[in-house]
Amino acid sequence: LNRRLAEFGTTIFAEMSALALSTGSINLGQGFPDTDGPEEIREAAVRALRDGRGNQYPPGPGIPELRTAIAAHQERRYGLTHDPDTEVLVTAGATEAIAAALLALLEPGDEVIALEPYYDSYAACIAMAGGTRVPVTLRPSERSFRLDLDELRDAVTDRTRLLLINTPHNPTGTVLTREELTAIAELAVERDLLVVTDEVYEHLVFDEAEHIPLATFPGMRERTVTIGSAGKSFSFTGWKVGWVTAAPALVSAVRSAKQFLTYVASGPFQYAVAEALTLPDTYFTAFREDMRAKRDLLSAGLAQAGFEVFRTAGTYFITTDIRPLGESDGFAFCRALPERAGVVAIPNAVFYDHREAGAPFVRFAFCKQTEVLEEAVKRLRSL
Ligand code: PMP
Ligand code: GLN
Repeated sequence: LNRRLAEFGTTIFAEMSALALSTGSINLGQGFPDTDGPEEIREAAVRALRDGRGNQYPPGPGIPELRTAIAAHQERRYGLTHDPDTEVLVTAGATEAIAAALLALLEPGDEVIALEPYYDSYAACIAMAGGTRVPVTLRPSERSFRLDLDELRDAVTDRTRLLLINTPHNPTGTVLTREELTAIAELAVERDLLVVTDEVYEHLVFDEAEHIPLATFPGMRERTVTIGSAGKSFSFTGWKVGWVTAAPALVSAVRSAKQFLTYVASGPFQYAVAEALTLPDTYFTAFREDMRAKRDLLSAGLAQAGFEVFRTAGTYFITTDIRPLGESDGFAFCRALPERAGVVAIPNAVFYDHREAGAPFVRFAFCKQTEVLEEAVKRLRSL
């Protein structure tokens, strides 16, 4: 393994899901729903497969039906217009979109500012692209993790090329506010930075929180690469359908990298996701409502079990602080949890460069059936 990748080892998600299987534990670690997405969308995939649509290489940028549906979804929800031919690219999940965007846009030595804790593939992809990551730490404050805008501004140097933003934010559940996004946009314009924004949890925002794409802010449309995922929005994480929307020059750059990573992926599933994106708003409302109820159930249960529970405004994750349980090392806690309680969770420290800043935090996924969450709570209460 080369020096760029040596520090990364095995992704925590593979490690923890294997531990859940080998110990028969409830897996609240890796973020995937235990209920598949809509039946009619599964049927659409079967139809495509059976009718021979997408069984051979689809067009490199994605099938036109899907690119059109992605553009229509962005317009319907956010008033953002994109030309499906030049401003939309279908990828093998958001994971490939992140990799292709960083590989395409970074020069070796360029600095990338990412909000810490960050989704684990960011660090590895920045490294593969030869970039340098500059983490800006979200700080716990009144049951949520907040961005210090001064810290963000101070992190920008002459070598900064790109801001890598994620909202709603995995693993903290933070949704950046209009004020925070305005400040990020102003900074990007002022310092002439590109922005890659991972908005895969765009449909999972709760209560008064609102998801506002960064591309909608003044000066951002031409400098922002926006990333979405059918895995997250329609509960088909195994299909690996994601996408990029951006200005033509940026999409063209990302496509240059993407064509040599996978060329194309997910043929028949692209047809099904094109249909999913045209589902009525009632689908998205019901999805959000279901996840909100699950968030409430697990948040209350974790609090009863003695954790300090942070408020999840978006995503399907809850971050907790284990110090009230007399623990301080999230790694040790998560490695012991399957034996102690038959539950698997993720130590947030893996998402930090400043490991000590993340040490006492542990993430639980609530995209699971109600009975599963209830059983997990019962087990955790016996800790
Ligand atoms: N970004 C974030 C913040 C995620 O949490 C995930 C997956 N959990 C991804 C990207 C990857 O999405 P996909 O499965 O579509 O590759
Ligand atoms: N994004 C999911 C999570 O944060 C997992 C994705 C993966 O396994 N790579 O849990």
